[in-house]
Amino acid sequence: MNLTDLGEFGLISRIRKLSRHRTSSATVGIGDDAAALKFAAARDVLATTDLLIQDVHFDLSCTDYYSLGWKSAAVNLSDIAAMGAVPRFCLTALGIPRTTRVEQVLEFYRGFEEQLRRAKTELVGGDTCASPKALFISVTILGQARRSEIVTRSGARPGDLIFVTGSLGDSAAGLDILKQGMHLRPAAATDASRVERLVEKHLRPEPRTSEGRMIALTGCASAMIDLSDGLSSDLGHICEESRTGAVIEADRIPLSPALTALSARLGADALEYALSGGEDYELLFTVPPRKLRRLEGLGLPVTRIGVVTRGRRVLLKDSEGRTSALPAAGYNHFAEEGRLRGHRQTAL
Ligand code: ADP
Ligand code: MG
Repeated sequence: MNLTDLGEFGLISRIRKLSRHRTSSATVGIGDDAAALKFAAARDVLATTDLLIQDVHFDLSCTDYYSLGWKSAAVNLSDIAAMGAVPRFCLTALGIPRTTRVEQVLEFYRGFEEQLRRAKTELVGGDTCASPKALFISVTILGQARRSEIVTRSGARPGDLIFVTGSLGDSAAGLDILKQGMHLRPAAATDASRVERLVEKHLRPEPRTSEGRMIALTGCASAMIDLSDGLSSDLGHICEESRTGAVIEADRIPLSPALTALSARLGADALEYALSGGEDYELLFTVPPRKLRRLEGLGLPVTRIGVVTRGRRVLLKDSEGRTSALPAAGYNHFAEEGRLRGHRQTAL
């Protein structure tokens, strides 16, 4: 069906039906001039918003609408997770080209809703406009936490140990697979499942909602961030805000078997993907040594990759113990070449 046949209000009412499967925790949800939301007493409200623009953040020739919806919700949920908070409510504003089919918008919302459902988060409003060319997606999520539970980027101290959840670099490799068309022609059956894993990690990232919350509840982390721009950039943000430096051990960086097996065929180094590739949506956090027991008690899939230092530099230590500077190499929207892939390692 064409969007012009259904119209703005017809579309909103379809979106509303799609998202009405949960018992509502909002006093007023979709359908009025504004939503009215109930937050628990003695909690801070956490607010985060992200803008996703066609051909900047996503390419419709590489993603389906369900995955796009999934990822649009996941990246925001990941920001709330990185604060150690509980996501509660969500708003979406869409600028949709007139040529988009109604079914495609609804597929987007199905993927979106699946992520919200898992995070027990309710869609309570938004805005819908026609866009002349590109698809625009703006997502806002509101969460809550006790003030004492909130984990910021600025609390890291020299001597704190640096951890990441999961493994790094898969998403960036998945994007290269999509761009090179390798998912269409994997050589062997084992490769096919590896290709699928990396592509899935790119198109449908899993935000670490429960892990972020558990880390916050135990109070073991001094600082935390989600890995959206890439390890080198995001660790740089923690160091910047905390006024510290860091040393990362290359050998300790967790790489998935799929990434290790396929990176050579992609013409890149697995470690390079892990250091500078973005969009893993894993959590990077620092733990004071005296609180290590608390973290271990959680039994989370985490790896210690380095230590926070007093000097303000971010360094990478190789297997022979040599260190080199680890400059931020993630995505910078206003840099001349956009993506600054491939960080230079300047020997010290
Ligand atoms: P207004 O004219 O006051 O902005 P709208 O007609 O744009 O109201 O929206 C009507 C209702 O539908 C509001 O509750 C709004 O939050 C909701 N809404 C509009 N677009 C979306 C969307 N894309 N997703 C979810 N809710 C939406
Ligand atoms: Mg409106």
